[in-house]
Amino acid sequence: MRVKDVYNLIDRYAPFAIAEEWDNAGFLMGHKDAEVTKILVTLDADFCAMEHAVKEGCNLIISHHPFIFDTEKQITDRSGQGRKILYALENHLNIISAHTNLDSCEGGINDTLAALLGLNVTEKFIPTREGGMLGRIGTHSFASLDQFLSHAASVLNVTPRYRMVNASFKKIAVVSGSGSSCMKDALAAGVDTLVTGDCRYSAYIEAAEIGLNLIDLGHFETEQIIVPVLAEYLRSHALTVTEHIIPTPICTSEA
Ligand SMILES: [Zn+2]
Repeated sequence: MRVKDVYNLIDRYAPFAIAEEWDNAGFLMGHKDAEVTKILVTLDADFCAMEHAVKEGCNLIISHHPFIFDTEKQITDRSGQGRKILYALENHLNIISAHTNLDSCEGGINDTLAALLGLNVTEKFIPTREGGMLGRIGTHSFASLDQFLSHAASVLNVTPRYRMVNASFKKIAVVSGSGSSCMKDALAAGVDTLVTGDCRYSAYIEAAEIGLNLIDLGHFETEQIIVPVLAEYLRSHALTVTEHIIPTPICTSEA
Protein backbone atom coordinates (compact mmCIF):
# COMPACT_ATOMS: atom_id res chain seq x y z
CA MET A 1 0.00 0.00 0.00
CA ARG A 2 1.23 3.47 -0.85
CA VAL A 3 1.18 6.62 1.29
CA LYS A 4 -1.71 8.06 -0.74
CA ASP A 5 -3.74 4.85 -0.15
CA VAL A 6 -3.30 5.21 3.63
CA TYR A 7 -4.25 8.89 3.33
CA ASN A 8 -7.48 7.81 1.59
CA LEU A 9 -8.18 5.27 4.35
CA ILE A 10 -7.81 7.95 7.00
CA ASP A 11 -9.93 10.33 4.95
CA ARG A 12 -12.71 7.73 4.98
CA TYR A 13 -12.52 7.49 8.78
CA ALA A 14 -11.87 11.13 9.63
CA PRO A 15 -12.66 13.23 6.52
CA PHE A 16 -10.09 15.99 6.10
CA ALA A 17 -12.88 18.20 4.72
CA ILE A 18 -14.38 18.57 8.22
CA ALA A 19 -11.12 19.90 9.73
CA GLU A 20 -11.32 23.49 10.99
CA GLU A 21 -10.37 26.27 8.59
CA TRP A 22 -7.35 27.31 10.71
CA ASP A 23 -6.05 23.76 10.99
CA ASN A 24 -3.24 22.13 9.03
CA ALA A 25 -4.45 18.55 8.90
CA GLY A 26 -3.51 16.37 5.93
CA PHE A 27 -0.53 14.88 4.11
CA LEU A 28 2.26 17.13 5.40
CA MET A 29 5.54 15.45 4.47
CA GLY A 30 6.91 12.96 1.98
CA HIS A 31 6.13 11.17 -1.25
CA LYS A 32 2.53 10.24 -1.98
CA ASP A 33 3.58 7.24 -4.08
CA ALA A 34 6.08 5.81 -1.55
CA GLU A 35 5.38 2.19 -0.64
CA VAL A 36 4.55 1.98 3.08
CA THR A 37 6.77 -0.36 5.06
CA LYS A 38 5.20 0.04 8.50
CA ILE A 39 3.14 2.77 10.17
CA LEU A 40 3.70 4.51 13.49
CA VAL A 41 0.62 6.11 15.09
CA THR A 42 1.32 8.82 17.64
CA LEU A 43 -0.21 11.91 19.23
CA ASP A 44 2.82 14.02 18.29
CA ALA A 45 5.38 13.49 15.54
CA ASP A 46 8.16 14.82 17.75
CA PHE A 47 11.79 13.65 17.82
CA CYS A 48 10.94 10.88 20.24
CA ALA A 49 8.27 9.50 17.88
CA MET A 50 10.40 9.96 14.74
CA GLU A 51 13.37 8.16 16.28
CA HIS A 52 11.04 5.38 17.39
CA ALA A 53 9.65 5.14 13.84
CA VAL A 54 13.12 4.85 12.32
CA LYS A 55 14.14 2.22 14.89
CA GLU A 56 10.99 0.19 14.18
CA GLY A 57 11.38 0.43 10.39
CA CYS A 58 8.29 2.63 9.91
CA ASN A 59 8.37 5.05 6.97
CA LEU A 60 4.93 6.54 7.62
CA ILE A 61 3.89 8.42 10.75
CA ILE A 62 0.26 9.26 11.46
CA SER A 63 0.13 11.97 14.11
CA HIS A 64 -2.80 13.76 15.66
CA HIS A 65 -1.17 17.15 16.15
CA PRO A 66 0.04 18.66 12.88
CA PHE A 67 3.73 17.98 12.22
CA ILE A 68 4.00 21.44 10.67
CA PHE A 69 1.79 24.35 11.60
CA ASP A 70 3.39 27.70 10.94
CA THR A 71 6.37 27.22 8.66
CA GLU A 72 9.49 29.26 9.06
CA LYS A 73 11.20 30.76 6.02
CA GLN A 74 14.40 28.77 6.52
CA ILE A 75 14.65 25.02 7.06
CA THR A 76 18.03 24.73 8.78
CA ASP A 77 19.49 23.14 11.87
CA ARG A 78 19.39 26.53 13.60
CA SER A 79 15.78 26.10 14.74
CA GLY A 80 13.83 23.34 16.46
CA GLN A 81 11.34 23.15 13.61
CA GLY A 82 14.14 23.11 11.04
CA ARG A 83 15.91 20.22 12.80
CA LYS A 84 12.63 18.30 12.98
CA ILE A 85 11.88 18.73 9.26
CA LEU A 86 15.48 17.90 8.30
CA TYR A 87 15.36 14.74 10.40
CA ALA A 88 12.13 13.63 8.71
CA LEU A 89 13.55 14.32 5.23
CA GLU A 90 16.91 12.67 5.90
CA ASN A 91 15.19 9.56 7.24
CA HIS A 92 12.66 9.38 4.37
CA LEU A 93 9.70 9.72 6.71
CA ASN A 94 6.25 10.40 5.32
CA ILE A 95 3.86 12.15 7.70
CA ILE A 96 0.09 12.52 7.73
CA SER A 97 -1.62 14.49 10.52
CA ALA A 98 -5.30 13.98 11.37
CA HIS A 99 -6.13 16.78 13.76
CA THR A 100 -9.50 18.53 14.14
CA ASN A 101 -11.04 16.10 11.65
CA LEU A 102 -10.16 13.31 14.10
CA ASP A 103 -11.65 15.28 17.02
CA SER A 104 -14.97 15.70 15.24
CA CYS A 105 -15.54 12.58 13.15
CA GLU A 106 -17.87 9.71 13.99
CA GLY A 107 -15.91 7.34 16.26
CA GLY A 108 -13.14 9.93 16.64
CA ILE A 109 -11.55 11.39 19.76
CA ASN A 110 -14.63 12.95 21.33
CA ASP A 111 -16.74 9.83 20.80
CA THR A 112 -13.94 7.71 22.27
CA LEU A 113 -13.58 10.07 25.23
CA ALA A 114 -17.32 10.17 25.94
CA ALA A 115 -17.50 6.37 25.85
CA LEU A 116 -14.49 5.95 28.16
CA LEU A 117 -16.00 8.43 30.63
CA GLY A 118 -19.20 6.38 30.73
CA LEU A 119 -21.41 8.97 29.05
CA ASN A 120 -24.53 8.12 27.14
CA VAL A 121 -24.17 10.52 24.20
CA THR A 122 -27.43 12.28 23.37
CA GLU A 123 -26.26 15.09 21.11
CA LYS A 124 -23.31 16.76 19.42
CA PHE A 125 -22.40 20.43 19.48
CA ILE A 126 -20.17 23.04 17.83
CA PRO A 127 -20.41 22.53 14.06
CA THR A 128 -17.14 22.49 12.10
CA ARG A 129 -16.99 22.38 8.31
CA GLU A 130 -18.87 20.05 5.98
CA GLY A 131 -21.23 18.74 8.64
CA GLY A 132 -18.58 17.86 11.25
CA MET A 133 -19.45 18.35 14.93
CA LEU A 134 -16.71 18.88 17.49
CA GLY A 135 -18.07 18.11 20.98
CA ARG A 136 -20.33 15.48 22.49
CA ILE A 137 -23.02 15.89 25.14
CA GLY A 138 -24.32 13.10 27.27
CA THR A 139 -25.97 11.94 30.45
CA HIS A 140 -24.48 9.56 33.00
CA SER A 141 -25.40 7.19 35.78
CA PHE A 142 -22.72 8.07 38.34
CA ALA A 143 -24.11 8.48 41.84
CA SER A 144 -21.91 11.48 42.60
CA LEU A 145 -19.29 13.82 41.21
CA ASP A 146 -16.64 12.00 43.25
CA GLN A 147 -17.57 8.72 41.62
CA PHE A 148 -17.31 10.30 38.15
CA LEU A 149 -13.94 11.87 38.97
CA SER A 150 -12.46 8.67 40.31
CA HIS A 151 -13.67 6.80 37.22
CA ALA A 152 -12.17 9.48 34.94
CA ALA A 153 -8.90 9.44 36.90
CA SER A 154 -8.56 5.71 36.52
CA VAL A 155 -9.50 5.35 32.82
CA LEU A 156 -7.37 8.29 31.70
CA ASN A 157 -4.61 7.98 34.28
CA VAL A 158 -4.89 11.62 35.26
CA THR A 159 -5.42 13.77 38.33
CA PRO A 160 -8.54 15.84 37.59
CA ARG A 161 -8.63 19.57 38.30
CA TYR A 162 -12.06 21.05 38.60
CA ARG A 163 -14.32 23.76 39.95
CA MET A 164 -17.96 23.03 40.73
CA VAL A 165 -20.28 26.00 40.91
CA ASN A 166 -23.53 24.45 39.73
CA ALA A 167 -25.37 21.98 42.01
CA SER A 168 -26.66 20.16 38.95
CA PHE A 169 -24.37 17.46 37.56
CA LYS A 170 -26.52 15.78 34.95
CA LYS A 171 -25.65 16.91 31.45
CA ILE A 172 -21.96 16.75 30.58
CA ALA A 173 -20.21 18.10 27.49
CA VAL A 174 -16.82 16.79 26.40
CA VAL A 175 -14.32 18.57 24.18
CA SER A 176 -10.98 16.79 23.98
CA GLY A 177 -7.65 18.60 24.11
CA SER A 178 -7.96 22.29 24.81
CA GLY A 179 -11.65 23.22 24.86
CA SER A 180 -12.24 25.85 27.52
CA SER A 181 -13.07 28.31 24.71
CA CYS A 182 -16.22 26.20 24.21
CA MET A 183 -17.74 27.12 27.60
CA LYS A 184 -20.37 29.46 26.15
CA ASP A 185 -21.37 26.89 23.51
CA ALA A 186 -21.76 24.30 26.27
CA LEU A 187 -23.90 26.63 28.31
CA ALA A 188 -26.04 27.47 25.29
CA ALA A 189 -26.59 23.73 24.78
CA GLY A 190 -28.04 23.46 28.29
CA VAL A 191 -25.03 21.69 29.77
CA ASP A 192 -24.13 22.01 33.47
CA THR A 193 -20.60 20.55 33.25
CA LEU A 194 -17.83 20.86 30.66
CA VAL A 195 -15.04 18.28 30.58
CA THR A 196 -11.95 19.29 28.64
CA GLY A 197 -8.21 19.91 29.12
CA ASP A 198 -5.67 22.73 29.24
CA CYS A 199 -7.82 25.02 31.42
CA ARG A 200 -6.17 28.25 32.49
CA TYR A 201 -6.89 29.90 35.82
CA SER A 202 -8.98 32.53 34.06
CA ALA A 203 -11.18 29.79 32.56
CA TYR A 204 -12.21 28.65 36.06
CA ILE A 205 -13.10 32.25 36.93
CA GLU A 206 -15.17 32.64 33.76
CA ALA A 207 -16.87 29.25 34.31
CA ALA A 208 -17.92 30.35 37.80
CA GLU A 209 -19.29 33.61 36.41
CA ILE A 210 -21.53 31.80 33.94
CA GLY A 211 -22.51 28.99 36.33
CA LEU A 212 -20.78 26.13 34.53
CA ASN A 213 -18.91 23.31 36.23
CA LEU A 214 -15.47 22.88 34.67
CA ILE A 215 -13.39 19.70 34.82
CA ASP A 216 -9.87 19.52 33.37
CA LEU A 217 -8.72 15.99 32.52
CA GLY A 218 -5.58 17.04 30.64
CA HIS A 219 -4.86 17.81 27.00
CA PHE A 220 -2.62 14.79 26.50
CA GLU A 221 -4.82 12.44 28.54
CA THR A 222 -8.06 13.30 26.72
CA GLU A 223 -6.43 12.77 23.31
CA GLN A 224 -3.86 9.99 23.50
CA ILE A 225 -6.79 7.54 23.82
CA ILE A 226 -7.24 7.74 20.04
CA VAL A 227 -3.83 6.19 19.27
CA PRO A 228 -4.90 2.54 19.83
CA VAL A 229 -8.25 3.19 18.11
CA LEU A 230 -6.63 4.59 14.98
CA ALA A 231 -3.97 1.86 15.01
CA GLU A 232 -6.69 -0.79 15.18
CA TYR A 233 -8.58 0.82 12.28
CA LEU A 234 -5.43 0.65 10.13
CA ARG A 235 -4.71 -2.94 11.21
CA SER A 236 -8.21 -3.89 10.13
CA HIS A 237 -7.07 -2.91 6.63
CA ALA A 238 -4.15 -5.32 6.78
CA LEU A 239 -1.52 -2.70 7.57
CA THR A 240 1.37 -3.24 9.96
CA VAL A 241 1.17 -0.65 12.71
CA THR A 242 3.21 0.30 15.76
CA GLU A 243 1.61 2.44 18.47
CA HIS A 244 3.74 5.11 20.06
CA ILE A 245 2.18 5.72 23.46
CA ILE A 246 4.15 7.35 26.20
CA PRO A 247 2.62 7.46 29.70
CA THR A 248 2.68 11.26 29.67
CA PRO A 249 5.05 13.73 28.01
CA ILE A 250 5.18 15.84 31.16
CA CYS A 251 6.62 14.51 34.41
CA THR A 252 5.29 15.24 37.89
CA SER A 253 7.50 15.06 40.95
CA GLU A 254 6.69 12.56 43.66
CA ALA A 255 7.09 14.98 46.55
ZN1 LIG B 1 -4.52 18.41 21.05
